[in-house]
Amino acid sequence: MSTGMTTRERLAIDRVHMVELDADSRSRNFDEVNRGLTPEEAVREAQRCIRCTNRQCVAGCPVGVSIPEFITALADGNLREAARILTRDNALPAVCGRVCPQETQCEARCVRGIKGEPVAIGYLERFVADWATANVAELGDEPLPPPTGRRVAVVGCGPAGLTAAGELARKGHGVTIFEALHDTGGVLRYGIPEFRLPKTIIDAEVARLLALGVTVECNVIIGKTLTLAQLREEFDAVFIANGAGLPVMLSIPGENLKGVYSANEYLTRVNLMGAGRDPGSTTPIIAGKRVAVIGGGNTAMDCVRTARRLGAERAMIIYRRSEEQMPARVEEIKHAKEEGVEFVMLTAPIAIGGDKDGWVATLRCLRMELGAPDSSGRRSPVPVEGSAYDIAVDVVVNAVGTRANPLLTATAPELKLNRWGNIATDDNGATSVAGVYAGGDIVRGGATVILAMGDGKQAAAAIHDWLNRR
Ligand code: FAD
Ligand code: SF4
Repeated sequence: MSTGMTTRERLAIDRVHMVELDADSRSRNFDEVNRGLTPEEAVREAQRCIRCTNRQCVAGCPVGVSIPEFITALADGNLREAARILTRDNALPAVCGRVCPQETQCEARCVRGIKGEPVAIGYLERFVADWATANVAELGDEPLPPPTGRRVAVVGCGPAGLTAAGELARKGHGVTIFEALHDTGGVLRYGIPEFRLPKTIIDAEVARLLALGVTVECNVIIGKTLTLAQLREEFDAVFIANGAGLPVMLSIPGENLKGVYSANEYLTRVNLMGAGRDPGSTTPIIAGKRVAVIGGGNTAMDCVRTARRLGAERAMIIYRRSEEQMPARVEEIKHAKEEGVEFVMLTAPIAIGGDKDGWVATLRCLRMELGAPDSSGRRSPVPVEGSAYDIAVDVVVNAVGTRANPLLTATAPELKLNRWGNIATDDNGATSVAGVYAGGDIVRGGATVILAMGDGKQAAAAIHDWLNRR
């Protein structure tokens, strides 16, 4: 038990290391790479927290999780209380414990990081959340207020929509989520592969939210099956959280050849439809022995590591800047390298070449060098003259980014958009239409799970106020 520990004793404990699957074997299957902490490791790590009064870690968390409080409960061996605090503050803690970039958020603010390594907040979040999932019965049902009789429609069942739905249900409002796909979770399910985020984790967290009385209607596309105007007639308020899933094209010759995928299509085929993994899947995928993935973010890492698992002998990241400039998490880059992924840096694709039957055969690239800093302060890549060369490939995956899909907004001209086609909102998520709120990637452009969840939480509070004022 940690209750009697001195600060000096806490400071003497080293940060825990999480066990990972062996790189050679894991690069041939979809098993989760990070294996979690043992109860002893989790308690020991929790004892490293020095319980600061100014709670800098909480300020770094977009959903304001009571971090020192749940860690203290864990350090004291009170898992029930730790789980109660965590699941109250965070609708998807087992997801966040696996995919949030804690190193730039809560852990970046942890005071223990000033002179050493921060408390492994993400690992502890994952540990407590997994305990909560395994002990649902012990935690019991959450008490809910009486129904208010108000009804809210949520568009999209990703992290923003799920968070808002949970918060609104906890206030007693009736919530229906409309989801275009046949399953819940948004990018969590169709984008992030199981070796980072197992589907059973998403299922358990969604089930906890649905137990609050939220209804989900899948296979309903707002903008096609129903319009925003129809939702406004039927519901007292609407929260739009339909993400930003439309791929940005490469705009280079050869993009329409067979064997060229957008990251979105590639990952959805494998993760949501089981292509290349599930023998019963009716959705095909071209596995490819030589796969080039263009981009340097999380999505590119997920695609290239998926390509390795589908049997690629050469799985390559093609990125026009340097490795230090890659937006992917450091851990993703490390894992990809261990799994045999090749990093072809300072290289820009300029054309995709095909064979006589229209299949991808080569990726023509230019070597780049770093020039003067651009407006973001990053040194811009500049082509090296006469450096064009071909890489032999069977599959090319475009992972340079996504933007807002205009499907919904094209049928709702009353919604004000910004110049990139994202829905414009005020700081509380209110759109130009009274009673209609929006958040997550549809407002920010491609961002992170926790920022989408923060938007969902904030918009739910604003919707609750708005409903009360009516
Ligand atoms: P989404 O998750 O996109 O959910 C939107 C939902 O709305 C989807 O289910 C979609 O089908 C549905 N929808 C769309 N249009 C309609 C419509 N017209 N009617 C009804 N439903 C509709 N972030 C991290 O923090 N960590 C990571 O490791 C990470 N990895 C990523 C890996 C990949 C491959 C990708 C693509 C993104 C990753 N991100 C990561 C980003 C993160 O997943 C997103 O920022 C987050 O999911 C956005 O949440 P959202 O709820 O706004 O939208
Ligand atoms: Fe604990 Fe770090 Fe938060 Fe301080 S900043 S309370 S040490 S987790």
